[in-house]
Amino acid sequence: MTIQTDIVIIGAGIAGASAAAALSDYANVIVLEQEAQPGYHSTGRSAATWAPYYGPDVIQQLTALSKPTLTNPPQSLGSSSFTGARGEMMLARKGDEAEIEKHKESGLQPLPIKEALQLVPLLREDTITNILYTDNLLSIDVDALHQAYIKKLKSNGGEIQCDNEVTSLHRNNDSWQVHTSNAIYSAPIVIKAAGAWAGKVGRIAGAIPIEFQPKRRSAALVPYAKNSNMADWPMILGAGETFYCTPFGNGMMISPADETAIEPCDVWPEDLDIATGIDLFQQCIDYDIQSVTHQWAGLRTFATDGKPVVGFDSSINGFFWLAGQGGYGIQTSPAISELCLAIIFPESRDKMHASMSGKTIQSLDESLSPGRFGLSKSSS
Ligand SMILES: Cc1cc2nc3c(=O)[nH]c(=O)nc-3n(C[C@H](O)[C@H](O)[C@H](O)COP(=O)(O)OP(=O)(O)OC[C@H]3O[C@@H](n4cnc5c(N)ncnc54)[C@H](O)[C@@H]3O)c2cc1C
Repeated sequence: MTIQTDIVIIGAGIAGASAAAALSDYANVIVLEQEAQPGYHSTGRSAATWAPYYGPDVIQQLTALSKPTLTNPPQSLGSSSFTGARGEMMLARKGDEAEIEKHKESGLQPLPIKEALQLVPLLREDTITNILYTDNLLSIDVDALHQAYIKKLKSNGGEIQCDNEVTSLHRNNDSWQVHTSNAIYSAPIVIKAAGAWAGKVGRIAGAIPIEFQPKRRSAALVPYAKNSNMADWPMILGAGETFYCTPFGNGMMISPADETAIEPCDVWPEDLDIATGIDLFQQCIDYDIQSVTHQWAGLRTFATDGKPVVGFDSSINGFFWLAGQGGYGIQTSPAISELCLAIIFPESRDKMHASMSGKTIQSLDESLSPGRFGLSKSSS
């Protein structure tokens, strides 16, 4: 049996779910997910922050454009803010001067050690030479955001079908035939929101050969130090992104900020990476960690220029790329999903948030379009 719909989205992480929610106001949408539940891969493994000074310029623009939806969501996403106050503190040790100078221009301000100690009393004065700080970094309730997107999709009549791996797809006249382990779906538009599997799904569709590299990033959760105020700490970052830590649920998440190139998979951390993160943390923070509650790793997937790839493929009709969100896919999901909507249904532009002006949409469309790679199928 072939199931007909307007749009099939491959992947039910934050990218697929947010695009599905936006598009479901205008079309029938079915999301296909290979795992038993949505959000199993990168989306369920992030540090859950909105970091406005992080990443390339276009990422910072998308992050800023996403803030209104994250802090003050529309009724269709439940109206309750998905964010909490957090702040960011960058710590420099001897030799980090160049990194500190670079970040002074980016919105973080110098903070005297005495003031920093009031926020983070366990800072090691013997190793830290410089501190920058901003209160302009938020935590995101990723699960609530992801669920809100899914709830909106379902209330508009859309569906997420899990345990449904897309194994092949081809264009037949005016429609895509999408084959999964369970059924065949037919739709004029297919959106590939497959995270680390972006390159693979592009290849099986016969799209232009854009390269993506998944990179492993690891994390450990450790208990808060007894009688400490760690739950209220800002996110702490080693200058040059050598490591970071942030309050996370009922403990402190510590990451060595690793970026190991790896094939798409259900990724696990290496013991050495976890140990490196904890060592770097202890070089800056006076806390002798005795146990790790939990550890995990996730994939951050990048195109070769580090920018997301959003838009229709230039060589085959109706194939839409939504990939390469790197380490920023949660915090940019509101703006990127609106961009998808604006490209696929231009008539939606009149109803968009004022900050998504026609000019902004046009410049984002040009900057993120798959056409920027100038490839054709014959070059594969
Ligand atoms: C440690 C870590 C910290 C991070 N911190 C942050 C942060 O603080 N803020 C931030 O904004 N971002 C952060 N990120 C990045 C963020 O998690 C990702 O950018 C985002 O989750 C990517 O979403 P996605 O939907 O593209 O990918 P995914 O969540 O991986 O979803 C892709 C989905 O596609 C499915 N799929 C793939 N192939 C098929 C197929 N053939 N058929 C059916 N389904 C398929 C997969 O099963 C998967 O569920 C972090 C990432 C990591 C690893």
